[in-house]
Amino acid sequence: MTAAQQTIHVGGEWRAALSGATREIIDPVDATPFEVVAEGGALDTDDAVAAARAAFDFGAWPRTPVADRAALLRRVAALLDRDRDRIGALESRDAGKTLEEGRLDVDCVRDAFRYFAGLVENENGGGRVVDAGSDEIRSVVVHEPVGVCALITPWNYPLLQASWKIAPALAAGNTFVIKPSEITPLTTVVLIELLLEAGLPLGAANIVTGPGDTVGARLAEHPDVDLVSFTGGLVSGTKVARSAADSVKKVALELGGKNPNVVFADACSTPDGFDTAVDQALNAAFIHSGQVCSAGSRLIVEEPLRDRFVAELSRRAELIRLGRGTDAGVECGPLVSAAQLARTESYVASALAEGAVLRAGGGRPAGPGYFFRPTVLDRCHRGMRVVREEVFGPVLTVETFRTEEEAVALANDTEYGLAGAVWTSDEHRARRVAGLLRHGTVWINDFHPYLPQAEWGGFGKSGIGRELGPGGLAEYREAKHIYQNLAPRPVRWFAGTTTAKG
Ligand code: NAD
Repeated sequence: MTAAQQTIHVGGEWRAALSGATREIIDPVDATPFEVVAEGGALDTDDAVAAARAAFDFGAWPRTPVADRAALLRRVAALLDRDRDRIGALESRDAGKTLEEGRLDVDCVRDAFRYFAGLVENENGGGRVVDAGSDEIRSVVVHEPVGVCALITPWNYPLLQASWKIAPALAAGNTFVIKPSEITPLTTVVLIELLLEAGLPLGAANIVTGPGDTVGARLAEHPDVDLVSFTGGLVSGTKVARSAADSVKKVALELGGKNPNVVFADACSTPDGFDTAVDQALNAAFIHSGQVCSAGSRLIVEEPLRDRFVAELSRRAELIRLGRGTDAGVECGPLVSAAQLARTESYVASALAEGAVLRAGGGRPAGPGYFFRPTVLDRCHRGMRVVREEVFGPVLTVETFRTEEEAVALANDTEYGLAGAVWTSDEHRARRVAGLLRHGTVWINDFHPYLPQAEWGGFGKSGIGRELGPGGLAEYREAKHIYQNLAPRPVRWFAGTTTAKG
């Protein structure tokens, strides 16, 4: 990795913050610092935007043929394969994931680069010919890069979220400045190194490590930024949207979720069905300690099934092995920070005060670090904060329903709309319910998988726009209509005639 504290990359040069400020990166497993990065500010951001602007207006990347752009993305994918173990281990330590999750994240990042390389390659030059209704008119719509993109990412999937923005932005021919979360910036710095190693022209990729309220806010308001793509929480996302509106730039927001996992009793009518639905409910809620935007944090289960389902789920939640992600047998790491731990504790306390019944977990285990035990809260209802708001910790709430209509109403009763699942053995019901759910991704008898080929994003307050899929590339493009008159003549709209000819 780049020399300590030189984690800002501007126009081809690695450097420290202009102010000299630094930040310690904390290992969430034992709450001790293990790395130091540059703490950039508004002036570093201005430099980075100027570099990206010059690289877009005068540089090679936007003018690079599509086939060469795709080839570079594929080289990045190959470098990710080469460095999988190193990067996976760094992600594991920085974000508190298991090593296996860290490595799988690297695979998903690689797949995003490959996918967008293939997508632009297969367009064969793009361009849609429009039938203008006349042989004398030639009309075509082409797609061009937006320009300078500001990419702002969160701490739960630092590298993955970065790749969902960087890969399409570059595939489309843009230049960018990325600002990773200030608490987990390390793998994004490594990704910039790989882009340079793969041969990306200098200035096309810039990174400023630093806080959201200075670096992030400056990016969102900067007049030379053409697009801001933000993934993070609702509060910061709203501020970004406001700044983007004031400066009239394109904006894409991937925000939070409060995702329902609806289980009908018919899905559990066999022992295998029951085991699968419980196992996946566990995975939906507790993978990466629930710090997943699409976490299935609301279990909505058919009333007669509740006691059996919750008993088994709680038994298994108690067995989840917490620890350092690189240690053998560990299934779940800690929360990412002291702040996230305090937030989770406060939600559990408020739920219990509001009448929830604790079935598993409920507190911190003994020892150092930001660990919180996987928690199941039964007898929850919509009036509770813990049911309405995103906890972003290992906390599962249980609600029940008696009819299909009630299940759908509960699942849609959220200001968010990122993802949701329905478990049933009835094919007609599965399709009916999937059609009625107001969420950007709906799983039937599954939870969590996504495909780079399919759009990802949310209804409601889960965001604006989409990542991945053709829609994820479209975010980074402007449409241009080129209308050519093959037989120009005067229109004679105005009465006066032209006297001077030639
Ligand atoms: P956050 O909003 O605190 O921070 C996200 C990023 O925004 C960070 O880089 C931060 O520094 C920056 N930021 C903060 N304030 C800013 C401001 N005023 N202007 C510009 N940038 C600012 O979110 P977080 O705590 O890092 O991440 C957790 C959130 O991210 C959760 O709500 C989660 O649901 C969401 N998330 C959503 C998706 C998705 O695909 N929809 C994916 C991952 C995470």
